[in-house]
Formats: sequence, structure tokens, C-alpha cells
Amino acid sequence: MKTKLLTEQDIAAAAAILRDGGLLGIPTETVYGLGANGLDPMAVRRIFQAKGRPQDNPLILHVPGSSWLERYCREIPEKAYTLAEKFWPGPLTMILPRREIVPDEVTCGLGTVGIRCPNHPVTLAIIRTAGIPVAAPSGNLSGRPSPTCAAHMLEDMDGRIDAIVDGGPCGVGVESTIIDLTSLVPRLLRPGGLPLEALQEVLGEVAVDKAILAPLSAGEKPKAPGMKYRHYAPKAPVTVVAGKGGRTAQYIREQMGEHTGVICFDEYTDRFPGCAVEAIGSSQDPGEQARRVFDALRAFDGTDVTAIFAQCPGDAGLGLAVANRLKKAAGFQVVDLGEDEA
Ligand code: AMP
Ligand code: MG
Repeated sequence: MKTKLLTEQDIAAAAAILRDGGLLGIPTETVYGLGANGLDPMAVRRIFQAKGRPQDNPLILHVPGSSWLERYCREIPEKAYTLAEKFWPGPLTMILPRREIVPDEVTCGLGTVGIRCPNHPVTLAIIRTAGIPVAAPSGNLSGRPSPTCAAHMLEDMDGRIDAIVDGGPCGVGVESTIIDLTSLVPRLLRPGGLPLEALQEVLGEVAVDKAILAPLSAGEKPKAPGMKYRHYAPKAPVTVVAGKGGRTAQYIREQMGEHTGVICFDEYTDRFPGCAVEAIGSSQDPGEQARRVFDALRAFDGTDVTAIFAQCPGDAGLGLAVANRLKKAAGFQVVDLGEDEA
């Protein structure tokens, strides 16, 4: 299959691919997605094949607004509409009880569905033109860092899907925040582009799923099935070094050798002579870190780097999502130096 590159002008052609059961790379504000008609079981199955995605990892349904919630979800609490009003279109996925019309292929047989309205004018226009909800996971090969531009998606998906719509680089850079609204106390299943603090302001208490902060022990089942897989990983093994910037830089200096790659904050780029260095923004700017973290993880592939060390932000704001992606890329291989300065 030849994968076409479409532009922002090709809305009708892109919508036709979805309506015909094809696979389409779509730009969103979070990361690029691999979309198919979310009501067509065959089309959705092809997403799993193209990505090599495990069969028990459900997909998010993308809709153009909260007026479509009733079509695919049941027992929708008032707070779902409040959240949609405040944060849609935007990087928030809500887990709600699903209606029968949503195929098992999307939810992997769960009684719930993840639903979100992405904040990208081109993809919203494509969904509206197609007139169908779009099931879409991130557009990477399973296990690889998520793509934040069309070129990165093409690296993984060339020859596997019908087309990719180039809508420019992603403004947020990490996937959506996932909140489960089916339990009494709403539960954060994945930190993402909408900070936890913003949800707490609206919802009050929010439980934080264990799988976000630490690896699960053998046999433990996460609420978001995707959280159990090693993810976002470059080819070389990653070690995350948590703690104050000066100390973590010093620690990495002590470990570095030939073929070491370093992911660091802008303030520390000159501390690692001889290493391949990828800066992800100022230590004070988790928004910029979110935009750049996946590109940094991808950058070492195709180089001779055999081990990667990464400085890691704290958990405030978007830092929670950036830290989670780095730790998952590291398979939770984390050295925690604590909060003391050197
Ligand atoms: P991706 O789009 O690649 O980021 O993957 C979607 C994420 O949403 C995965 O982590 C899934 O486990 C999660 N997800 C999708 N649907 C549900 C659901 N019904 N319940 C819990 N998690 C879900
Ligand atoms: Mg993904």
C-alpha cells in the first residue's frame, strides 16, 4: 500500500478514506492519531494490525463535541457536560458507560468507552464531513514514542495506512489526560495534556490510579489497559534520574561513557561533553517539555547511542505527564536522588 500525504485542504478526500473503511493519520493538538471509522469493526481491527497493538488495549472515540455524547454513552453524569464545556475541544478523554452501537473492537469488550473532542480544526472538519466518530490511538508503531509531526508518523506507518494528513506540529505534544467518570470518585487513569490540577478545580477530589506513578506488580490489572505496557521507548534503554536539576546532572555525568545519550533541561546542555544531548526546554517550563519529550526519545534511534539518561520534572502541572512518559519509556527504571540540592 502506498501511503499518501494529504494537506489541510484535502478534507473531503480524508473524510472519504474514513467512510470507506480506510486508515488515516490525523493531526490533533496532543499527538498524531491513527484513525478509522469507529462504528466499523473491520476498519477498527485494521488499526490494531497496522500498529501491532495488543488486542486488549481499547481505543479512544473522537467526536466533534458534547452533543454526540448521548449517541455513544449512557448514564452520563452532569459533571461530564461540565468538563466538556470547560475543556473541549481539548486534551481530555472521559471514560463513560458505552452504548451497544460502539463495537467491541473499539472498547476491547469493556462496558465503557473513552471519548474525546480533539482541538484541531482540520481533524474536526474531517470528522464533521465524514459524519462518523473516529476511533484513534496514537499513530506510532506499538511501543514506540508517539508521533508529534507528520514526518514521525510516516516513519512508523509508511506503507501500512492509506494516508496521513499533515496538520503541522502538535501544540501539546503528549496524549490526552484520561479521567474515569464511572466511579463515585473520578479517577485519573493517565496524566496528559490537561493538568490534574485543572480537573481538581472542577471535580474536587480526584483519585490517582496507581499505574501512573509506579510499575504494577505481576498479575495486577490497571484500569486503563494501555498503562501496563512498556511504551514510548527508544531502542536504547532509558534511565530516568529524578531530583533537583544540579544533582541529577552531576549523577548523569558520573555515569556517562561512550555512546551515552542524555535528555536534559536547557540549563544543563553543556554539562555532558561527548554525549548525544537532547534538550527538552527549561526546567521551569513543563509545557515546552511536553511538546519536545517524544521527539527527544525518538532522536536517539538511528544513532550509536546505547544508553540514555533523562532528567525528570516534578509532578506539578504538565510535569506529571512528562515524568510519566519518561518513566514508562524507561520501564520505570528510575534513580531518585530526592529533593536536596547538591
Ligand atoms: P492511545 O490512544 O494510544 O494513547 O491509547 C488509548 C489509551 O486509552 C490507552 O491507555 C487505553 O488503555 C485507554 N482507554 C481507552 N478506552 C478505555 C476504557 N474504556 N477504559 C479505560 N481506558 C481506556
Ligand atoms: Mg499510544
